[in-house]
Amino acid sequence: MTNPATATTSTGEPSRMHDTEVSAPLAFSSPDLRTLTERFHFDLKEGCIWLDSQRVLILQAEWFVELRHELIAALGVEKARGLITRLGYSAGCRDGQLALKLHADRTLREIVDSGTQLHALQGTVAVTPLVYEVDLDAHHCHMEFNWKNSIEDHAQLRTPRPTHEATCWMEIGYASGFLTTCFGSSVIVRETECAALGHSGCRCIAKFEHEWDDPSEDVKYLQAWSATPTPAAQAPETNGGDLQAADEPAPERRGGAGLQALGRSAAFNSVAQKIERVAGTNATVLLLGESGVGKSLFAREIHRRSARADGPFIELNCASLPESLLESELFGVERGAYTGANASRAGRFERAAGGTLFLDEIGTLGFTAQGKLLRVLQTGEFERLGSGKTLHGDVRLVAATNENLRRLVDDGHFRLDLFYRINLFPIEVPPLRDRRDDLPLLIEDFLARYRARYGRTHPMQISPRAYRALLSHDWPGNVRELENVLERAVILMNDGEALDLHHLFTDPAEFPSEGGLLVNDAGQLVETDEGRGPAAGDRDGVGEGTSPANWAQRALQECDASGLPGLERRLVMTALREAGGDLQKTARKLGLTRAQVDYRLKKWGETAAP
Ligand SMILES: [Zn+2]
Repeated sequence: MTNPATATTSTGEPSRMHDTEVSAPLAFSSPDLRTLTERFHFDLKEGCIWLDSQRVLILQAEWFVELRHELIAALGVEKARGLITRLGYSAGCRDGQLALKLHADRTLREIVDSGTQLHALQGTVAVTPLVYEVDLDAHHCHMEFNWKNSIEDHAQLRTPRPTHEATCWMEIGYASGFLTTCFGSSVIVRETECAALGHSGCRCIAKFEHEWDDPSEDVKYLQAWSATPTPAAQAPETNGGDLQAADEPAPERRGGAGLQALGRSAAFNSVAQKIERVAGTNATVLLLGESGVGKSLFAREIHRRSARADGPFIELNCASLPESLLESELFGVERGAYTGANASRAGRFERAAGGTLFLDEIGTLGFTAQGKLLRVLQTGEFERLGSGKTLHGDVRLVAATNENLRRLVDDGHFRLDLFYRINLFPIEVPPLRDRRDDLPLLIEDFLARYRARYGRTHPMQISPRAYRALLSHDWPGNVRELENVLERAVILMNDGEALDLHHLFTDPAEFPSEGGLLVNDAGQLVETDEGRGPAAGDRDGVGEGTSPANWAQRALQECDASGLPGLERRLVMTALREAGGDLQKTARKLGLTRAQVDYRLKKWGETAAP
């Protein structure tokens, strides 16, 4: 991703401001708005809007007005205020993290000002900064700002209930959370004037918690009244069991016990809830779903959440071995049972005693193995190959298949009685395209893992269009495909380079075929034609006429020729290279027609081949 021209600040010092006239608005030093707007992704097909990795909503303001009224009516002013303040605080923390991530190369002051952009983009309030005195070394913060058009004032003014207090609770929470995240130290924001009280606007002061005389009055609204986690703790969401643990920091989330199934989508939570229900029982579980959806991970979750968690988890892919070997692998073999059986060996059933046996691709089992498996499931008894001694195994079976077992039964390839036995508790694991909400989480997790695996020191950055491509791709190979694509991308990337489209899709046929929607400079939603074919290797940001042409800057830097003709030729050739040899794209970059580009190439004896 390339950054457009850096916004300059008229006030000089980036992160420490000096005394300023309180009433005179400060000049904004926000980063280019595009850095944020290009992170919006409207996925109409899936009904999702994304702001970077957060799914966002467009809600009617009246929705918020009614919610606020209902909350006050149901909980009383104090509790409603606490709840709304905390919700604002969590949102501010999340946006603070986003601002730190998107503007990692900017000054603290610019990052803070980007919060006003976020607020305005979300339609909640317009911020005018008045005072900015921040010295992190001296642990000092004194900021003042005005709010205009606060959604909460709008809500308050729509109710007949008069108020004697400032009412912008969500904004106070949001600003406190945002600044706390940016400064890494607790900031409390107070509203000293409020439009809902008849003032011309809302006036706010932000200080570090220790700089207020009595912050407890403010802090009490940031702490829940019950034992629920405080917003500051950024506790994981708890919907659908604790399988997802979505908001935990990545290392803890992955834990020491290897990979875990990750997700927070409705489809994921539906699976998580079923697993939560069945894990504690001894019931046989059948995991259904396409290849690559992570059935093995879910099988491990069932084991991990069962009373057998301390026992072994033994896995076998039934399709990986020929039937003759499969039986000895499953049930063990006695020495001399067949030529080559030089030693006695326990099978997977024996080794899984007290634990869980996971049989993947169970639809590929042959009839003999099916019969033996049925017997174990019915009686717990089996024999090693070549042995008359009956063994007993206390084993919990989890099976998986990407085939339609019912059809295999109808076609005579699978025993009906075994089907009934293992189909006791089927769980359909959805394909990745049906749980797109989980993509941001999965992408972040995989990138963190590959960053460590390949010794990358820089944080992983993804260009907006690459991110959109990841979100809109159909992922026929599911999580495994995503995993492979990201691993390959990390290998292809230089350390510190942003992940871009050409790292993701090496085959032009793989490029996403549909453009997305973007917010343009005029604030309108427009279609992009990015990601169409190999020309998407173009690195100049999104769409046409977006950023200053960095390719042109590069061409100028590389240009060793003097004079206009040499420069012109260098510009055209660089544009052609950047466009992957696509004449149409090259022409658009240069503001020429295709014929004009073609004419020049012919004149110079150049070809359009990249
Ligand atoms: Zn207000």
